[in-house]
Amino acid sequence: MTDAREPLLTVEQLHVSYGSIVAVRDLDLEVFPGEIVTLLGPNGAGKSSTLNAIMGCTRASANAIRFDGADVRDEPVERRVRRGMALSPEGRQVFENLTVMENLRLGGASQGKAHGGPAAFDEVTELFPILRDRRDQQAGTLSGGQQQQLAIARALMSRPRLVLLDEPSLGLAPTIVDAIFELIAKLHDRGITIVLVEQNVTRSLEIADRGYVLEGGRVVMSGTAAELHEAGDELVGAYLGIGG
Ligand code: ATP
Repeated sequence: MTDAREPLLTVEQLHVSYGSIVAVRDLDLEVFPGEIVTLLGPNGAGKSSTLNAIMGCTRASANAIRFDGADVRDEPVERRVRRGMALSPEGRQVFENLTVMENLRLGGASQGKAHGGPAAFDEVTELFPILRDRRDQQAGTLSGGQQQQLAIARALMSRPRLVLLDEPSLGLAPTIVDAIFELIAKLHDRGITIVLVEQNVTRSLEIADRGYVLEGGRVVMSGTAAELHEAGDELVGAYLGIGG
């Protein structure tokens, strides 16, 4: 599919390895402004490694990682955050002994005083009223669903244009999963571009515009969400199946 717009994110020939383990190879990816793009694939396919490499959280090589026209390949995470990229990592990784408010402040800290302050707190907690109510509570005492909300909210504190969401529904009860997907739709409505890594294939293809299927660190299929949904049987063969 051709698109006249410039991509917000372009990844060319990404390669990630951990010692002798090659996690991602020859990966090309494009994300256009306002899109939700989902990365699908079985455990160990290289999805998290891809997000971490895009954000600069893991060592990687690539011909280019371009965000909004700038090659960010050699930039540290903080610089990428200032440009408007943010990651909500797999496993939430909230600071359990810090309060909700303190966790959120850390998310905004890299933007300096102009961002991540009270205005960002108000803006972000408008989406997550529970976090406003529990602002002084230790993060470790929140439920799993609330901690996931906190992880996403923390990523939003820097007012990103691109958010990388790694398995936001993992291990959550179905009603909480519904709430997380409603939240992703709200972020999309606000014009935030999203890359979504999900085990829940059906839900992510419902919400996404396009997707890439990874297996063994490579892209084995890509297309619009409708095309990937239609390729259901092939996807089942490739890994975990529609309905998952
Ligand atoms: P999952 O859904 O299980 O998180 P994934 O598709 O996100 O899987 P990655 O987590 O990126 O896949 O892992 C890709 C490969 O790299 C796997 O073989 C994994 O065991 C390996 N791997 C990931 N992180 C590390 C690490 N820090 N050290 C060594 N190997 C790693």
